[in-house]
Amino acid sequence: MGSGFCRIYAAESELMDRQEQAKRARLAAADLTAQGVRTVALTWVDNAGVTRAKAVPVRRLEHAAAWGVGMSPVFDVFCVDDSITTSAHVGGPVGDLRLYADLSRITALAAQPGWAWAPVDRYTQEGEPHPCCQRLFARTAVERAAAAGLELRMAYEVEWFVGTADPRAGDPIPATTGPAYGMSRVVELSAYADAVLAALAAEDVPVEQFHPEYAPGQLELSVAPADPVTAADRNVLVRQTIRAVSASFGYQVSFAPVVVAYQVGNGGHLHVSAWRDGRNLFAGGPGPYGVTAEGESILAGLLDRLPALTAIGAPSPASQLRLVPRHWAGPYQCWGRENREAALRLVTGTVGERDTAANAELKSFDAAANPYLLGGAVTAAVTAAAGAGLTLPLEVPVDPASLPEGRQPPRLPSGLPAAVAALRADDLLPGVLGEPLLEAFCAVRLAEHAIFADASPEATVAGTRWKY
Ligand code: GLU
Ligand code: MG
Repeated sequence: MGSGFCRIYAAESELMDRQEQAKRARLAAADLTAQGVRTVALTWVDNAGVTRAKAVPVRRLEHAAAWGVGMSPVFDVFCVDDSITTSAHVGGPVGDLRLYADLSRITALAAQPGWAWAPVDRYTQEGEPHPCCQRLFARTAVERAAAAGLELRMAYEVEWFVGTADPRAGDPIPATTGPAYGMSRVVELSAYADAVLAALAAEDVPVEQFHPEYAPGQLELSVAPADPVTAADRNVLVRQTIRAVSASFGYQVSFAPVVVAYQVGNGGHLHVSAWRDGRNLFAGGPGPYGVTAEGESILAGLLDRLPALTAIGAPSPASQLRLVPRHWAGPYQCWGRENREAALRLVTGTVGERDTAANAELKSFDAAANPYLLGGAVTAAVTAAAGAGLTLPLEVPVDPASLPEGRQPPRLPSGLPAAVAALRADDLLPGVLGEPLLEAFCAVRLAEHAIFADASPEATVAGTRWKY
């Protein structure tokens, strides 16, 4: 989408006056039509971490913006294999919701000619916010942070496997044979990578870096930080764009936590910084590595809450297969400056740019996470910790696995039931999620655990590989 479009529609969309929404949609539709767009895909991410979609022809955008698009609430209890569980508040075939596109986010999809995309907020037919809407949850968390004087900046790193499925149902075949971080991967995939980066540039996604990653066929890109809702929207857009470009090259992509059993997996590391009065709280202070007292409290609060956040940030049965030592997945509940085996890696940046660069990287998270739910939960955790006067425990400055057994930091919850129990026992997150969302989310986690409870690692990986 051209920047002129973004300027016109920069305002945040609310479930506002229908006439005003219709007017904005009419202008947007004219702009999209001029660009050859015929259909707008409206997406939301469910509690399984799957991006689901409904689409409207451009000429229906005006109506959709004013009146929403219908959708069953049952998707709140959909599992990764499309089976449907149930929960205390959501389940079954009855009921309907309205999807409202965020018109400020409409983007012509560079790798899908004829298509545009917009994320949606979900409301009831009575016009009330749907209590299970993860995007509204994130927006509320951001508003509460702002009311406390905090601004959060986030970015999800995107790691992915590109290749083709093995016709004999074995491990997928990487699109490149080049070594980890190898320039030969860049050469072999030159046209493909260029097409990915060109498409993202056309969509105004601020890519900051691209590189070949460690595992066979694995690539990575990172984007500039933004407010939590924008970061989550961008994560959806980036992944669908990579998927579309890959399809045009005859490739399949996997953002799943593990693509081949026992190999290094795909992370969905979340970078977070917290700002007050335009100042980064993780730099320029008297605490460890220049962290401010408030920044230290935030880091300590995040560290404390990591077991509960694991249910949201590493939610798939396959996530558990990724969260193992010496895979750089951050499976230990500890922190360390630039420690890639710590769940909380403090990134200080280089002397001279620390005031803008310093951030916390939450490494244990993966791309099975719903980025709205995770961004909202982390925002709530940061807001609660900011004024709490917490202090960090000792840093772990080495590979935790190299320490004698009794001195290793705790591992994150092992198994989805333990992660769900930690979430339920948390003193903050159940309250901010609200019962309907908490119950639906936990029901999906436990149902997915049951689906794969007796499966081998190979079967769990095969069952989740192409889903995220
Ligand atoms: N692929 C690793 C993971 O599963 C991360 C590698 C890295 O540190 O970038 O999280
Ligand atoms: Mg990486």
